[in-house]
Amino acid sequence: MKTIGLLGGMSWESTQTYYRALNEGVRQHLGGLHSARIAMISVDFAEIEALQHAGNWDETAVILSEAAEALERAGADFILICTNTMHKVAPQIQARVSLPLLHIADATAMELKTAGVSRVGLLGTQFTMEQDFYKGRLQDHGLEVVVPNQLGCKRVHDIIYQELCLGQIKNESRQVYLSVIDELVEEGAQAVILGCTEIGLLVEPKHTDVPLYDTTAIHARMAVEAAIVPDALNIFSSKQNIRVGE
Ligand code: GLU
Repeated sequence: MKTIGLLGGMSWESTQTYYRALNEGVRQHLGGLHSARIAMISVDFAEIEALQHAGNWDETAVILSEAAEALERAGADFILICTNTMHKVAPQIQARVSLPLLHIADATAMELKTAGVSRVGLLGTQFTMEQDFYKGRLQDHGLEVVVPNQLGCKRVHDIIYQELCLGQIKNESRQVYLSVIDELVEEGAQAVILGCTEIGLLVEPKHTDVPLYDTTAIHARMAVEAAIVPDALNIFSSKQNIRVGE
């Protein structure tokens, strides 16, 4: 079994979901007392969040690249960045380590395409919903991406930072998300990506009939396969280099 390297703590509320999902996934595949081999660096999210909102992404890239190098020294075979937003600096991190980095948007796009979804709604932080590093990557896979209007984006973003990353799960915020999800469906979305690793703590499939794609669960599933199935890691890492049209 390969060792999974986690860049965690962004926020730790969702890193614990990753930890559980990875261990449950390995147990499901291998049975008995098997559990995932994991190396993790968990950062101080207050520092990262302040740099994000100040627009100082270069400094976040330095912090996460150093953490990735530490994972490499610790014996990780590949890396997951346990947040959608920080994939903004995935290229800088990847440039500093020789380990493959399994991109959360690629994992998600692969599942959507297998399910036959072509037009998808995206919920996440404003960085994720509005910037090209994430939406563009989904579009490279041939997906059409719909995001909420300006007010919807702001409400979704604020709930992530002011509640979900602090472990606060509120019914009224769930209702906000459910109405934004309905608006995305009105815009033609066939399914909705929970493109922030904490959203699955608030909105679950039992709350709506709209098909939800929880990026935390999807990313963890890909990692378990990469760790256990011979050659899966090679296949996932090479698929990520394929751009649509090539
Ligand atoms: N975990 C969240 C995400 O998946 C937001 C926290 C962050 O900014 O990293 O985007």
